[in-house]
Amino acid sequence: MHRTARVELRVTGGQRQRLFGLLRSGGDVWAAVLELNGWRRRRGDRPLAGYQELCRELAAAGEGTFGELSSVGARSVLRGYSDAWISAARRRRAGEASVRFPRRRRGLVPVRFYAGTFTIETDSGRPRVRLPVARGRPPLWVRLARPLPYPAERVRSVRLVHQGRWLFLDVTVEVPVATYPPGAGPDPARIAGVDLGIIHPFAVLASRGADGKRDAGLLVSGRALRAEHRLHLAEGKARARATAARAPRPGQRGSRRWRRYRARGRRLEGRHRRRLTQARHEAATEVVRWAVARRIGTLAVGDPRGLLARDAGRRQNKAVRDWAVGDLLHKLADKAEAAGIAVHPVDERGTSSTCPVCTRRVAKPRGRVFRCPHPGCGFTGHRDLVGAANIAARAPAPVGTASGGSLVTGSPPVTTHRRAGRHLPGAGRSRRDPRRGLLSRPPGRSTSTHPVARGGGSTWPAVARPENQPGSGKSLAGTRREDQAPPHRGKPCLTRH
Ligand SMILES: [Zn+2]
Repeated sequence: MHRTARVELRVTGGQRQRLFGLLRSGGDVWAAVLELNGWRRRRGDRPLAGYQELCRELAAAGEGTFGELSSVGARSVLRGYSDAWISAARRRRAGEASVRFPRRRRGLVPVRFYAGTFTIETDSGRPRVRLPVARGRPPLWVRLARPLPYPAERVRSVRLVHQGRWLFLDVTVEVPVATYPPGAGPDPARIAGVDLGIIHPFAVLASRGADGKRDAGLLVSGRALRAEHRLHLAEGKARARATAARAPRPGQRGSRRWRRYRARGRRLEGRHRRRLTQARHEAATEVVRWAVARRIGTLAVGDPRGLLARDAGRRQNKAVRDWAVGDLLHKLADKAEAAGIAVHPVDERGTSSTCPVCTRRVAKPRGRVFRCPHPGCGFTGHRDLVGAANIAARAPAPVGTASGGSLVTGSPPVTTHRRAGRHLPGAGRSRRDPRRGLLSRPPGRSTSTHPVARGGGSTWPAVARPENQPGSGKSLAGTRREDQAPPHRGKPCLTRH
């Protein structure tokens, strides 16, 4: 399987010009193919879309037509065009009429080089890469800003990309799937269900989990992720409010100060995106680590993407958009594959409203606790773990396992609590997020009923530091404990009463 790491390039002014020249040449190749196929269409000819025939056209043009770009680099752009064209054609044949063929010009197009066409030097401690350029041009060596996270001999391709004015190399390597000593690897017959949610990005339950007796559960808290979204939104709003008066009118040229303001906005967006990506990686890593420790070889994952198109009001819509469930699924599947664990998508309809003990339908539960109202059952458990238990039951049953009536034992599971985004400011007391001061009171709640507002403070939703609110130390004792303790201590987790 393949892994890609993005490594920044440390370049001189001259190298920067040459590298951006390569990207611009990539854009020229792309534009040339669009142009060529435009002519052919007007003449009534069949468009050229196959990689081989495009390469023949390139060879006819000769090396050096596209500035410093070597023919291997130019061919990678043709490969990209060909793949995009063929996939569009396939989807159109399948009846997706809205899918369009590649038609938009781009100024800068990433260029990929395959193993054998570039050289990586790591021995001097300062890793550097030589990228191929057109014949007759001086060699192009560039330094990497950090060591490669993988051995250099495993690198299969490098791709030159840019983000704003920064240049990066996407280094793709081939990594082996994890190996285990005999009898210690994941067992495909051990199944866990994964419920994706907003409160808990992942809730996982393995019926009669590790030891074959007690259910095992994992709850990954998404609190830090949601806080990051909320704080980022508050910060964006505050910035917009503060600068609305001096914003240039549409069509008017902005001042240098305005340009700096916009640049800072882009930096904040980038930081926000990176923080969230990191937190989602952490969440998926926790699930895979937990599963490996219990030798779980199959993860049944409820795919909730069917629910995303539904309009649920602007607040809930934003929460659903911020959730990035496709990305969570992708990261989980990726890490599971590397660990040798199979992932099965499962239809999750009704899984949160079925009792895992008596398997009867229950009206949609409110709150985090699931209670079975049916007489003779009375099962109570954590709602997300209930969903996970029902999802696990829908996985294709492995050979030689008897399905025994209920999905869970009914006794409390051994539940592990983990957090996604422990690196985020605001996740712990020691690193309080400076953006918290920007939070306004929630709309729709009047100041007279809100406890904090009534007390004269203005911070919503909570005050993290007692020293800011003298005299209120007692009521905040719980906050201190919650920072170290799992977020769901005291709430029932899959217990029969
Ligand atoms: Zn029940």
